[in-house]
Amino acid sequence: MSKVIALAGNPNSGKTTLFNGLTGATAYVGNWPGVTVEQRKGTYKKSGIEASIVDLPGIYSLSPYTPEEVISRNFILNEKPDAIINIIDATNLERNLYLTTQLLEMDVPIVVALNMSDVLEKQNQGIDVAGLSKKLGVPVIEISALKNRGIHHLMEMASAACESKREGRTVLKDKYVEEAHKIYQDESIENPLFHAIKALENDELEAETNKKVCEKVNSIVEGVEFDAVSADERYKFITDELSQFKLGVKEEKSKDKLTLSDKIDKVLTNRWAAIPIFLVALLIVFALTFSEDLFFLGRLGVPFSMNFEGNEFFEGLFWTDAGINSPGVILANLTNGITGWLASLIEMGLGAMHAPDWLIGLLMSVIADGFFAVIGFLPQILCLFFFFSLMEDSGYMARVAFVFDRIFRRAGLSGRAFIPMLMGYGCGVPAMINTRTLNTDKERIQTIRVIAFFCCGAKVAAVDAVAAILASEAFGWNAALVGFSMYLLGLIVAIAMVILMHWTTQREKVPPFIMELPAYHAPQWRALGIHIWDKTKGFIKKAATIIILAALIIWLFSNFTPTWQYIPDLVDEFGEPVADFEGSILKGLCQFISPIFFPLGFGNNLAGEGWALTLASITGLVAKEVVADTLITIAGGEEAVEALVLATNISLGGLLAFLVFNLLTVPCFAAVATAKAELPKGQLKWTILFWLGTSYVVALMVRLMFDWWWTTFIVVAVIAAIFVAAYLWYRHACKKEEMSLLGA
Ligand code: GDP
Ligand code: MG
Repeated sequence: MSKVIALAGNPNSGKTTLFNGLTGATAYVGNWPGVTVEQRKGTYKKSGIEASIVDLPGIYSLSPYTPEEVISRNFILNEKPDAIINIIDATNLERNLYLTTQLLEMDVPIVVALNMSDVLEKQNQGIDVAGLSKKLGVPVIEISALKNRGIHHLMEMASAACESKREGRTVLKDKYVEEAHKIYQDESIENPLFHAIKALENDELEAETNKKVCEKVNSIVEGVEFDAVSADERYKFITDELSQFKLGVKEEKSKDKLTLSDKIDKVLTNRWAAIPIFLVALLIVFALTFSEDLFFLGRLGVPFSMNFEGNEFFEGLFWTDAGINSPGVILANLTNGITGWLASLIEMGLGAMHAPDWLIGLLMSVIADGFFAVIGFLPQILCLFFFFSLMEDSGYMARVAFVFDRIFRRAGLSGRAFIPMLMGYGCGVPAMINTRTLNTDKERIQTIRVIAFFCCGAKVAAVDAVAAILASEAFGWNAALVGFSMYLLGLIVAIAMVILMHWTTQREKVPPFIMELPAYHAPQWRALGIHIWDKTKGFIKKAATIIILAALIIWLFSNFTPTWQYIPDLVDEFGEPVADFEGSILKGLCQFISPIFFPLGFGNNLAGEGWALTLASITGLVAKEVVADTLITIAGGEEAVEALVLATNISLGGLLAFLVFNLLTVPCFAAVATAKAELPKGQLKWTILFWLGTSYVVALMVRLMFDWWWTTFIVVAVIAAIFVAAYLWYRHACKKEEMSLLGA
């Protein structure tokens, strides 16, 4: 059996970097504390040394305050690794040594690795390794995980340590420690010193695991707040006895001696400039991913329809009349070109094999409209992933979270929650996956729920289609304004609902936001690539299976009557096939459901093909771009949508309510599947109800206000009443909690 060596250390001390260097594994290296929530295992094999390496989650102490601490502590106590490498960020020696003083109390061989020695060197500082090692009583070595320095030497020391035995030692000099230690030894409990000290510290986990012994120990320290004492003593030991090993004078930081990183931070986290700068950065990312008029050249009047011969290929791919395409759009065009070509190839193949019409229809709608439609979104999602990973990897996202923390705390969220929300403007799937970086379930639930409100790339198609109708003669609105309002509405509803949830169902306090700002550094391209690929794989798998299934069901229901008679396509005047819905299960079903939307103004109150709006709202659950697609299919072409919708005699309020409902309601299947995977158990059904309820109520309000302007007063009053009631409820509940705490 090979030796097991565990890597333990503070977040951002370089554990994962070292782990990757040792194992050559493909773990992602990020900047956020808490990225390493999963445990990673790998093998080190070089010049006769072989060991399995375990990357433990980053922790500041061994008290069970966070899941990470519990995981790491239990791993060491229960799995009994042969040795621990305690990795320390040498540029933050004192803070990191706090954990070391606790690790030392366990009966396990330890090697201390002083990481980031390259940074120390640059700053003309150093550490007296021999002195520190003597004082701690364990081997110490300087390494640089990033520069791959001292790694093999470290492994030689760790592997030697595996062969040795080590008994726990403590820096605490309190007289109770010895007594407690003795009690635990007499009970022959493993790691007696560590457990004894945890018992003295009133540690909850210890009280659970060794109940009897723990009580015995507690009876000897009656009245002493040992946990506070021990923390103080540890820090005192570090400053009094260990700080002396830091070599080189750290120059007093004066105004003109700021490092480049400090200077950049002064601007990027500036009270006034931080948010505008971030919004501009975001705008650039979105422009590079989604813009069809990059740098606004088209809008500025630069002509792009230069139709000289032979450039039809480039025309459309790289630019259109509207302007230059962004890299994201170019990639999407390429992908859609390829999938379109594949689709026609399949269709031709099936035709050549004289496949029956229904089979062609089935395969084409499942493969082309289902699977290929999702693949079509991939390039832009990848683009967003890439830019966001770049921001995260360089250390910028940590600053953004820091800045937004000030604002978000009031709604019961930490600043970190802001990033996944913003990603919701691109695509909800990666955005929800990104909530893994959040600390508490409460934060994840709140964030995942409101991500669905943001106007993602796929919803833009529906906004476009409806905006065009609103801009028609019948209504005379400004289409651009409609689009902008929908972007804003999503954000406003999200903020409002986060506050309401904080006051009612998600009342927990947010833990303090401990996060040092990591130094800026160039991204590691290999890690970035692996990271992106990891996310993509999951997306393709999840989304494709669900979408194919959904496309299959919709095809079945729209092509068969309730008695399972196949409905063949009609043929239009150009000989092209047009879908025929008359008598289909789907149309019947929609007519059955449409009364639900009557209050919103787009249900069974509509004339003509009004059921199509109900259908679009339902098919939109598969993928949001299908909302517009459904209308187009039923109208028989993009140009005909306006006529179809106007022919239903829909009101302005009804049309807006249709758009708002689809913008805010249950997101596409891919996002729901992601939410299911990312939410805590049992939360999905509440979340779906939350989406349905919010979208219905907001759409109803919009409908009322725009159809009968005087209802605005009532709507505003109702909204105000809801908020006041929620706030009073919150105050009431908080009071009650305080009372029960005092009573206890
Ligand atoms: P973990 O949270 O302990 O897993 O830390 P990571 O391995 O994710 O490292 C945190 C950050 O420190 C990353 O940005 C690394 O690139 C950086 N880093 C890790 N080791 C070194 C090192 O030896 N020198 C320098 N300069 N940076 C390092
Ligand atoms: Mg890590």
